[in-house]
Amino acid sequence: MAILPITISGEPVLHRVSDPVTEFDDELRQLVADMFETCKAAPGVGLAAPQVGVGLQVFVWDYADQDDAPAQGVAINPTLWLSPAEPGDPDPHTEVEGCLSFPGERFALRRSERAWLQAQDINGEPFEIKTSGWFARILQHEYDHLQGYLYVDRLLDLEYREAQRAKRKNKWGKPGLTWLPGVDNLEG
Ligand code: ZN
Repeated sequence: MAILPITISGEPVLHRVSDPVTEFDDELRQLVADMFETCKAAPGVGLAAPQVGVGLQVFVWDYADQDDAPAQGVAINPTLWLSPAEPGDPDPHTEVEGCLSFPGERFALRRSERAWLQAQDINGEPFEIKTSGWFARILQHEYDHLQGYLYVDRLLDLEYREAQRAKRKNKWGKPGLTWLPGVDNLEG
């Protein structure tokens, strides 16, 4: 297994729709093993393939604080259904999100409370997860990555402007930027 460099906002693979997985082979197993290793090292609660420069419909999670799924898992070619998000502004204390591809920054974002994931596992077998709360948020965040969205793309008003300012300040938003967990000391 290897820790992979994590792509930063501006890398094109983060901003386009990822391709479906068609081959459930050793190459895919290696990618998923490396993604778990990288997610753990970051550390993060989830990681999508575009975040390691691979434009495939794959994400992993590493989040034990829920009862609806194994603490670690991989979702391949996922579909996600959501309950309608509550109207109103997100709570800046309880709805704050971060992203390893927008490292060191955190912004409040309203998400749907409940999510229903259908996907394939590493062997191509279908499975589903119904969940709510923070794990539902993680699934929405990782699923977004496979559609070419970062959570900062969904921010509104002041939070959006602050994220854009952070992007300029960090000189992100151009191709080729990465950071390496365990070497570069960033978090998010
Ligand atoms: Zn992310």
